[in-house]
Amino acid sequence: MDDQLPVVAIDGPAGSGKSTVARNVARRLGYTFLDTGALYRAVALLAQRRNVSWENGEQLGEMLSQVELSIEPAETGCAVFADGDDVSEELRSEEISRGASKVSRHPQVRQALLDLQRSFVTRGPLVAEGRDMATVVFPQAALKIYLDASVDVRAQRRYQQMLGSGQPADLEEIRRAAQVRDQQDSTRAVAPLACADDATLVDTSDLNIDQVVDKIVALARARITSGR
Ligand code: C5P
Repeated sequence: MDDQLPVVAIDGPAGSGKSTVARNVARRLGYTFLDTGALYRAVALLAQRRNVSWENGEQLGEMLSQVELSIEPAETGCAVFADGDDVSEELRSEEISRGASKVSRHPQVRQALLDLQRSFVTRGPLVAEGRDMATVVFPQAALKIYLDASVDVRAQRRYQQMLGSGQPADLEEIRRAAQVRDQQDSTRAVAPLACADDATLVDTSDLNIDQVVDKIVALARARITSGR
């Protein structure tokens, strides 16, 4: 227990409410927020720009050895920089979501991003969200949460979000894309999406964001005393 890290590790599939919940938990606790999906998205974007295939782990690893990626907490979440250039605005399309899921299968990519993610603890207590926070990146996290929701609820949330931001959306298509991404993320050989043995499972299907945030904040306050 002595070597626990002051980290709230939050994992779960797309649409489980993870990003919004993690951001709000970080704000409430005054912790730094780390959105690790943004890093995988940035890798997909960079590969696209440089004509590197999302399927080619070797070349992706080579590309990452030549680019300086960094991530900084920002007003809206996290900003990602590639060689100093802020690429955050371009990370949220469906195409880049698909690419992120593909590039994240490669051990070369996961390895290249590991130290960058772990180095965030030097900034103080952390809320880190992704797919392998509790299992691989921060196995010593003081609190581990796995957020889940049914695929129908998750697709419906994404649909509403897209309509809300003025994008065209097809519910059935979104549902199918979510299933494909879940399947890829949870069956890959390296760091698959999984609920850690010592994680608390929270099903958000019938809960609103505030209810989930309250629950996690209470658990964190009980568990993490070395924070602020
Ligand atoms: O969370 P977000 O939807 O931004 O993540 C995009 C993709 O990045 C996921 O579908 C997943 O394949 C990958 N990812 C990952 N490990 C993480 C975070 C994201 O493999 N820790």
